Amino acid sequence: MSRKSELLVLAEAAKGFMPREEGLALFGHALELGARVPQGTWLEVGAWCGKSALYLGAAAEATSSVLYSLDHHHGSEENQAGWEHFDPTLVDPFDGRLNTLPTWQRTIASAKLEASVIGLIGDSSIVAAHFAQPLDLLFIDGGHAPDVARADYDSWTPKVTLGGLLLIHDVFVDPNDGGQAPYEIYLAALESARYLDVASEGSLRVLVRVA
Ligand code: SAH
Ligand code: MG
Repeated sequence: MSRKSELLVLAEAAKGFMPREEGLALFGHALELGARVPQGTWLEVGAWCGKSALYLGAAAEATSSVLYSLDHHHGSEENQAGWEHFDPTLVDPFDGRLNTLPTWQRTIASAKLEASVIGLIGDSSIVAAHFAQPLDLLFIDGGHAPDVARADYDSWTPKVTLGGLLLIHDVFVDPNDGGQAPYEIYLAALESARYLDVASEGSLRVLVRVA
């Protein structure tokens, strides 16, 4: 099996919230960007257990790029006990809090992607305020509360380079399909006139920075 196929199989098997078709689209667009701009600096907000990091990491490795995979690793609102996406196996007995970091580390290590995928542990806005490197690719898949998604948009999108990619996950036009916060930042990106919508797959939107 080729390295690419191996990584895509591992990505599909990894725990997380990335449907196969959307993951493959993530991989495909990242690979295309990396072919155009090799040795890029990429960042995802919302690592969880490393599923999207494998799709993006497969493309990062192939194009000598590095993906920063950012998360505080305590889950979003909807991942907490009593909510829709709660997974009791991820609770740390030490303090009773959700902790996805050990699983994320195992996911990246099992895929032998540690040279291409680097973990950043902390709150998205705090890290962004101290992160000076321009981003050739930004994938926003963090918290879906309106203020959290907006903070991700405000703090990270100014770092995207001209010609760089902005990918947003969980964009639902119809409120019956899901929360509206990712859709709202997608609209903000279009209204800013800095981004062009170039592709979509399921709830994934792909935009290119043009101004
Ligand atoms: N991309 C993942 C899914 C991410 S789920 C996959 O492919 O499966 C959303 C993640 O955003 C959660 O892990 C949560 O801990 C993280 N998150 C939410 N708010 C955050 C914040 N303010 N700073 C850092 N991470 C945050
Ligand atoms: Mg998502």
